[in-house]
Amino acid sequence: WSKTLARTGCRNVCSSPSRLQSMSAWVIDQYGSSGVLRHTEEIPIPTVNFAHDVMINVSAASLNPLDLNMRGGYGATLLNLRRDPLSLVNSFSEFPLILGRDLSGVVVDCGSGVTHFAPGDEVWAAIPPWKQGSLAEYVTLTEYEVSYKPESLSHIEAASIPYVANTALSALVNAGGLCRENSFNKRVLITGASGGVGTFSIQLLKAWGAHVTVTCSQNAEGLVRGLGADEVVDYTAGDVAEKLDMMERFDVILDNVGEDMEEWAMRLLKPWSGAKYVTLVSPLLLNTDSMGLLDGSLHAGLTLHNKAFQNITSSGVFYRWAFYAPDGPTLDEVSRLVDAGKILPVVEAQFPFSQVPQAFQKLEQGHARGKTVVEVA
Ligand code: NDP
Repeated sequence: WSKTLARTGCRNVCSSPSRLQSMSAWVIDQYGSSGVLRHTEEIPIPTVNFAHDVMINVSAASLNPLDLNMRGGYGATLLNLRRDPLSLVNSFSEFPLILGRDLSGVVVDCGSGVTHFAPGDEVWAAIPPWKQGSLAEYVTLTEYEVSYKPESLSHIEAASIPYVANTALSALVNAGGLCRENSFNKRVLITGASGGVGTFSIQLLKAWGAHVTVTCSQNAEGLVRGLGADEVVDYTAGDVAEKLDMMERFDVILDNVGEDMEEWAMRLLKPWSGAKYVTLVSPLLLNTDSMGLLDGSLHAGLTLHNKAFQNITSSGVFYRWAFYAPDGPTLDEVSRLVDAGKILPVVEAQFPFSQVPQAFQKLEQGHARGKTVVEVA
């Protein structure tokens, strides 16, 4: 019945929480450390305003390192440009800002042009960082950012996946050139494999038939092997570069760590064969925050160009930066892999909505082994 409602346009026929004026949410009113998080019951409900809007009652949300960084102001310059491209509103218009990039929940209202979703549908989504986040009762997104939640997962489990999935797929497919059809027996190295992006990427690549080597701490070896990693290098014991150097060369490196890795990891790639180094740790947002939009973007662009040029000319390997990209249809494919048992959620810690500050503290301690999830409703 929900599909029928959707086809006829559900805006006028579905029940909606429009009688409610405000909702419960965790917000920040300024950038800073843990003290800036504030719970409120007085955030206006984000109602459906456009034809392709989907309003979702959030059941669970999860946290990413980006939430910690955004709490401190990371990326504000570029994100504010995206929020308000013409600078029509006064500065600090992003506050009160709601963090939280993942959600699993239930559709409660749809715009008249929405064809794929209807009230009552269980969905999951990764929320672009320029939009209000999921540490709130309701979120409104466009239908293209939303996907049906895997039936085999609870909301808590489902909320652990969308943002890392969209990020990993953007990095491995768009930047790394991998896909289901061409990954068989490709040699891929994942650094920082015990965290959110890493634990998802291992499983995706194994589902695609790749050979996966990872770096992580010794006490994460059981976790990553359980998810399918073929070879595990403990970066805390001895010289990690030396150990990786003794292995057969790689087709793709997915770098979740950054630090000094770029200085020595290029030689681990197969030369002159289209191999790619893809890092998720780029200076773009830091540059625009510290130098302003124009100078920061130019500086970052120059850095990327120089490194890419140097690597392609010296050893024939591609050097690329990767970023999260919103993509509901991609999550449909992930949903199928999850329901087929090929990708498992890795929920390390779970907090009630009343303990969002404690969830942030957990994240701040680092050493993630999968994801930290918040039960919203
Ligand atoms: P997590 O915090 O979930 O995971 C990081 C993992 O790396 C932890 O398990 C940590 O465990 C491990 N680690 C730390 N240092 C090393 C090291 N030197 N070698 C190997 N492992 C290490 O982060 P995510 O997986 O969510 O994200 C990974 C990175 O990607 C982050 O830097 C994040 O900011 C970035 N990112 C960028 C995006 C973009 O759009 N560009 C989008 C999403 C993420 P331990 O310390 O115990 O070893």
